[in-house]
Amino acid sequence: MRACAEIDLRAIAHNIALIRAKTKAQILAVVKADAYGHGLIPVARTAVESGAQWLGVALLEEAIALRQAGIEVPILAWLTTAGDDFEAALRNHIDLSISSVEIFDLVLAQARKIGVKPRLHFEVDTGMSRGGFLEQWSAFINSAKAAADEFTLVGLWSHFARADEPDEPMNRVQIEEFEHFRFELESAGIKTEYFHQANSAAALTNPQSHRDIVRIGIAMYGLSPDLETMGDSQSLGLIPAMTLKSRLVVVKKVPAGSSVGYGATARLDRDTTLGVVALGYADGIPRNTSSSAKVSIAGQLAPVIGRVSMDQFVVDLGPDSIAKTGDWVEIFGKSGASVDTWAKAAGTINYEIVTRIGPRVPRIYLPNN
Ligand SMILES: *Cc1c(COP(=O)(O)O)cnc(C)c1O
Repeated sequence: MRACAEIDLRAIAHNIALIRAKTKAQILAVVKADAYGHGLIPVARTAVESGAQWLGVALLEEAIALRQAGIEVPILAWLTTAGDDFEAALRNHIDLSISSVEIFDLVLAQARKIGVKPRLHFEVDTGMSRGGFLEQWSAFINSAKAAADEFTLVGLWSHFARADEPDEPMNRVQIEEFEHFRFELESAGIKTEYFHQANSAAALTNPQSHRDIVRIGIAMYGLSPDLETMGDSQSLGLIPAMTLKSRLVVVKKVPAGSSVGYGATARLDRDTTLGVVALGYADGIPRNTSSSAKVSIAGQLAPVIGRVSMDQFVVDLGPDSIAKTGDWVEIFGKSGASVDTWAKAAGTINYEIVTRIGPRVPRIYLPNN
């Protein structure tokens, strides 16, 4: 095997337990995008075994894949759109998020056709200007009320724009806005059981936002929502679940003055030992990383040198390295090189690093027991 992503399901269980200890709310484990690259089904099973009462995904296909794997807890899909297979959604008892009159009408039409009562969560826009009802809300409440016996309103929900900046006043404003939407819904005589607004950052820092359910993604995978404002995984007590490893395809001595990689963007200022790692941008290694991205080999850090290619990249092991062709290196994981340093070196966030690890990289699971 040239490379693998080792997924520690015990870390997932630990991270969920840590959040459960901080809240009375129910836990919705967010497993969209192949569980942030960690593998949909094993992560979902671990989350449910660890006490998550709900699962959340973006796409309907993701929700249906969970049902096909035999997972029975409520699943919320929040990115449904025209053209989606609402019949499959209803037959699989997927909770659907509704953000517009148009999709509401499509879902009800399908529901009448097959005689299934949809379970819905209305999404409201409290300031992010992404999903959620805004100007249609008042009119929508009237049509929802008129059709009230045709669906079950399970929840009302919204999403924070800046929860990872705990001191940001916008968080308070979004909580107040959410209250206004709730008030309008209840004033119209429409009842619902669950209110939810918090993501990982809010679950970790803002108890006032927890309401009935917290929707946790990044923290469940052991990563910090924002290093600057919230500290790193370790300071939050989280354990990163993914370790990305690869073998060195070749290790060799290269003389000072040689250039490295496409574009000859790096040049060696000393004789050194280079190692070729068997992962590239096709596997989700960002092409534009500076030498501040490092891999770990036998407890030593070695910086990336030159541009990342499609299937491989080069690291500078140093003149005295005793590494050999075929040795394993850790791109990120438990021994020094981290998702966070890769994110920083590539000018992005840890979310993007893990979700982009591609399908060519096998996931190997360390079981949770
Ligand atoms: C992705 C997502 C989450 C999880 O966010 P994290 O920051 O990863 O905790 C929660 N709710 C919604 C609607 C999302 O799309």
